[in-house]
Amino acid sequence: MSIQIPRGTQDILPGVVEKWQYVEEVAKNLCHAYQYKEIRTPIFESSDLFTRGVGDTTDIVQKEMYMFEDRGGRSLALRPEGTASVVRSFVGNKMFGNPGQPVKLYYSGPMFRYERPQAGRYRQFVQFGVEALGSEDPAIDAEVLSLAMGIYRELGLKQLKLVINSLGDSGSRNAHREALINHFKPRISEFCGDCQNRLEKNPLRILDCKKDRDHELMSSAPSILEYLNDESREYFEKVQRYLSDMDVEFEVDPTLVRGLDYYNHTAFEIMSNAEGFGAITTLCGGGRYNGLVEEIGGPETPGIGFAFSIERLLSALEAEGVNLPINEGIDLFIVSLGDEAKDYAVKLLHKVRREGIASEKDYLDRKLKAQFKAADRCKAKYVAVIGENELKENKINLKDMATGEQEEVNLDHFVDRIKGKLSK
Ligand code: AMP
Repeated sequence: MSIQIPRGTQDILPGVVEKWQYVEEVAKNLCHAYQYKEIRTPIFESSDLFTRGVGDTTDIVQKEMYMFEDRGGRSLALRPEGTASVVRSFVGNKMFGNPGQPVKLYYSGPMFRYERPQAGRYRQFVQFGVEALGSEDPAIDAEVLSLAMGIYRELGLKQLKLVINSLGDSGSRNAHREALINHFKPRISEFCGDCQNRLEKNPLRILDCKKDRDHELMSSAPSILEYLNDESREYFEKVQRYLSDMDVEFEVDPTLVRGLDYYNHTAFEIMSNAEGFGAITTLCGGGRYNGLVEEIGGPETPGIGFAFSIERLLSALEAEGVNLPINEGIDLFIVSLGDEAKDYAVKLLHKVRREGIASEKDYLDRKLKAQFKAADRCKAKYVAVIGENELKENKINLKDMATGEQEEVNLDHFVDRIKGKLSK
């Protein structure tokens, strides 16, 4: 009986994995330019971290977490997102005491959510995310947003929409919260069970409900922007001004609320407008989460971050028809004829590989023609042919596959010669 891959997961095979490596490299390089440093945290954490950090009224925690008890009876969860783990590590490693503040971090790794799989939605997916902890300067918000947009732009995506909103500080949020409760309460029985639960616990999340999206009370719900106090409004205006200064285009959408409980002030999403991208258009989401560090047991520390999945990024690239500049070929293929030449090829291959030259040979005792075919399959730039005669004369035939040019190279100088040719 064959065993199937688990639902909502995928194998990333050679031929496709190069795209993953490429986009991850671009994202990492840009993080370096922005001075975000990599952090790697465990794939599983204590379940409490997410119940507290992400919020126990969220779908992620209530319905989607992969939880299990380990053999010692501890309740653990496969991480559904990265921010809570980074904050846990920030607190546990006392990074709040580092002289270099804010602490700017990025991560890349698999996340797990028990969601209904569909295009762009997996049960295991890779999130790339950044977090900036320890600064409440609106310039950091603008920096984080522009970094997210920068990664997409650098990769060649054009049909993007950056949508931002402010959820305000706790004063503004509380005032808005009261207004939302008053707005929905009289008719809450017309809403789904989840929304009824959310009414007192976190009414903002009602605005994010997929089931009740079209209820008439949704569009008339009080907007957070009307409840921002002066400080919050000023903060939001500064973020927008910095974005404009950096020529980062955006739209303000007062209905944007993020799925996780911990956000305040700036919240944002990046969508793809590309035709054929699919029903789920969100590529990236993030926001400010002042208060989360305290929630997880650290000192009061502001923070902001974002996360996007590589899966959706690659779909957007495909939808826009962007070809990534991936080098598929190899530098050299060594064709050998006869036992002695075959043995020599093993030695020579070892030598060139040690010089960093991507090279290959035949391992299936193929005939000459089939070895050339194999070289073609590898998209080799050069093919070197060695037979008994060449060995005797201490030379090798080197062919440039692009031009068809051939030359005899002394075996003692072969490595230098091929290196010289490749460096041109
Ligand atoms: P969230 O953590 O829910 O705010 O999601 C942030 C980003 O992660 C989204 O914009 C997507 O790019 C990505 N994402 C979230 N859930 C999934 C999923 N199930 N499959 C693939 N990507 C996802």
